[in-house]
Amino acid sequence: MSFLQVKNLSKSFGGNRAVHNVSFELKKGELLALIGPNGAGKSTCFNMLYGILSPDEGSVQLGGKELIGMKPRDIWRLGVGRTFQITAVYNSMSVIENVQMAFISHHHKAFSTFSRAARLYRDDAMRLLELISMADQADRAANILAYGDLKRLELAVALAHDPDLLLMDEPTAGMAPTERRALMKLAADIVADRGVSVLFTEHDMDVVFENAHRLLVLNRGELLAEGSVDEVRANAQVQEVYLGGGATFASGGSEHA
Ligand code: ADP
Ligand code: MG
Repeated sequence: MSFLQVKNLSKSFGGNRAVHNVSFELKKGELLALIGPNGAGKSTCFNMLYGILSPDEGSVQLGGKELIGMKPRDIWRLGVGRTFQITAVYNSMSVIENVQMAFISHHHKAFSTFSRAARLYRDDAMRLLELISMADQADRAANILAYGDLKRLELAVALAHDPDLLLMDEPTAGMAPTERRALMKLAADIVADRGVSVLFTEHDMDVVFENAHRLLVLNRGELLAEGSVDEVRANAQVQEVYLGGGATFASGGSEHA
């Protein structure tokens, strides 16, 4: 059963058709990758799904409920989480405090003193930190973390909201190749465990091929192809877009069945 239904989504900036007539569905527990060259319209799609941009046309339904017209905060309340391309954590707080804050806001708890906040959800936060192998860094200040650790913390903060749908626009941007693969594998394992549906973008094709259940290929705002990893890799139009034709759609040397 489809969980997210996107129909005929379009958005122009002036005369530039950033996203044109895009339709797709996402099933419960599915990891769907949205790929395409720079400027293809991926971030514009994400921003429309999250209520940051309003489309010129189209519909986005989550469990039958229309999201277009809703504010990001209300979409978030319906169980849609996101990780940011630009990392959004509280620099003045420690790692575990960042995750605790996410639990606190998820449960709409108000707190009057910091000492009370310091106890709230500490165990839940620690469990999440263990999941992302950052328990040993719980009490470090967020502003001294290595970039890759910051991205993992960002994932933990998104997971603290217990989302049913997670939107990740280039979650591994700026990371080294081995780190990217590890982060996406970690995210994929966690969401598989929790039955979370995921829509993500990613430049690194190894990361996409290793983790995506299905792929959407966007080019110049339009959906060019859709299918399994093998189907998309074998698609001549996709190869043309990525490699200007001729070569096969290789994935940096590693093969994954
Ligand atoms: P991607 O994320 O796939 O790289 P984007 O969705 O960011 O692509 O951009 C799609 C197209 O829309 C590009 O041509 C980009 O220049 C344009 N665009 C994106 N956001 C804006 C904006 N806020 N104002 C004007 N043009 C924009
Ligand atoms: Mg983008």
